[in-house]
Amino acid sequence: MDLRKLILALALLGAFIPFAKTLHASYQVQRQQLLDSTLESNLAYATKLAKSTDDFVQSAQLQLDYTAQLLVDEMDDPARLDTEAARLRLTSKSFNSIVIFDNTGKVLATSPETLQLQGKVLASAAVRESIRSRQPLISRPYLSAAGNFIVLMVSPIRDPRGGFLGAIGGAIHLQKENILDRLLGQHFYHDGSYLYVVDSEGRIIYHPDLSRIGKVVAGNQAVADVTRGGSGTASIVNSKGKVMLAGYAPVAATGWGVIAQRPRDVTLAPLTSLMRTVFVKTLPLALVTVLLLWWCARIIAHPLRMLAYGARNMDQPGTSQRIRSVRSWYFESRELKKAMLLGIGLFQKSISKLREDVNTDPLTGLGNRRHLQARVQELQERATPFAVVSLDIDHFKRVNDTWGHDVGDLVLKQLAMHMQDISRVDDAPCRVGGEEFVLLLPGASVASAAQVAERLRLQIERANMAPVDRVTVSLGVSAWPESSQDIATVFKTADEMLYVAKRGGRNRVEIYTPPA
Ligand code: GH3
Ligand code: MG
Ligand code: MG
Repeated sequence: MDLRKLILALALLGAFIPFAKTLHASYQVQRQQLLDSTLESNLAYATKLAKSTDDFVQSAQLQLDYTAQLLVDEMDDPARLDTEAARLRLTSKSFNSIVIFDNTGKVLATSPETLQLQGKVLASAAVRESIRSRQPLISRPYLSAAGNFIVLMVSPIRDPRGGFLGAIGGAIHLQKENILDRLLGQHFYHDGSYLYVVDSEGRIIYHPDLSRIGKVVAGNQAVADVTRGGSGTASIVNSKGKVMLAGYAPVAATGWGVIAQRPRDVTLAPLTSLMRTVFVKTLPLALVTVLLLWWCARIIAHPLRMLAYGARNMDQPGTSQRIRSVRSWYFESRELKKAMLLGIGLFQKSISKLREDVNTDPLTGLGNRRHLQARVQELQERATPFAVVSLDIDHFKRVNDTWGHDVGDLVLKQLAMHMQDISRVDDAPCRVGGEEFVLLLPGASVASAAQVAERLRLQIERANMAPVDRVTVSLGVSAWPESSQDIATVFKTADEMLYVAKRGGRNRVEIYTPPA
């Protein structure tokens, strides 16, 4: 995990949540709009058809009433009654069948005559009620004497003096093609929408599925409300377990109710494609946003990333140069960069100080034995010839004994200064023991080294080393590869020459000459 990914993840999260929320809200709004508009249009449709049904019932009742008046004086003429029944059925087209019965319920005439009811006494609740009340009525659905499931509309036949002669009934055969079909069947059902009609008790009297006719609808909020005379909309589950969006309105004249409904899933079907459109239209902007965020995350993370790489490779050369080149364009990165450069500076300073200390003799400031070895190795690798001058102070013990150790140290320091004084830039004056020194002379032959050694000897002999009166040194000279191919041998022979000088009386230079 790095900063860039973290910024990107955070930014994506920040962009995604509103994006998802927008999609969700737009989904909710569109869904509600679809539901509302379907419910509203079903309500409008149910209201319109309830009104048509109401008009139909009233005009059918008027037709029955009118025919009833015509029959007052014809009750004894069976042929005339048949004719009137047929005329009413065929001209009004409101009823599937017509029946005329007397005040006992005995059938006087029917149309069509195929009903085979002539002379029979009708015993249905509707007929008995009409004889009892002598008023117009509309029956509940019931199974008629001729075996049809019907709703019967009855109009009493009364003579002008108020005598009750009988009644004329018009039947709507609910399970056959009837006036309700023509009135309500215009509805198209291709998308699963349909409408149905219930009577005042919630019994279905019209339904596109004939097998449902006569059933009582229970537990349906729309039916419950419409049978109480209410109108409105409701989301309901139909007999097949399907959620339907219903609008419903009552038929005032009969107490029936019209319910128009449409499956909710059909209504919501366009939602998926609507949402797809919204998504597709939003997507390019979302992609551009993601790219922009990615780019910003890079830019923000870049300086810290570069500084982190610098921190990881702090010990490698060129790191401070790389850190210096980081474009730290904001506060945190700028401060970190400053601190790191400072840190690296101190770090490298102390490293080089340590390196120097490791190679330096603390008393005299000359190179030590390690320094000498490093320089020799360097020269050997570059195949640069060099000469070695070994130097040892004569009778130094006496100096210490006479003047004390501190004065002895002072002498060592002064001697070192003389060695430095005589050295060129590339020469390496080193302290390799207590009062033993080596002067390394790159590029020098034995002869030129001997000259340097002699000059040094003379300079020290003449130098004022107060408080010590006089200090002299003995020196031995050898060279590589002139004296020997073997470097160890070169140093050894220089030392041997030093001891030759000591034995020869000190304060002198001895040169190694290889055996011929
Ligand atoms: P020779 O002429 O034969 O070299 O006689 P010498 O007295 O110089 O003998 P040698 O070189 O063997 O003795 C070295 C003496 O140098 C021994 C010790 O007291 C002294 N010495 C060694 N290192 C130091 C030092 O760091 N400071 C001081 N003051 N004296 C040292
Ligand atoms: Mg010595
Ligand atoms: Mg000595």
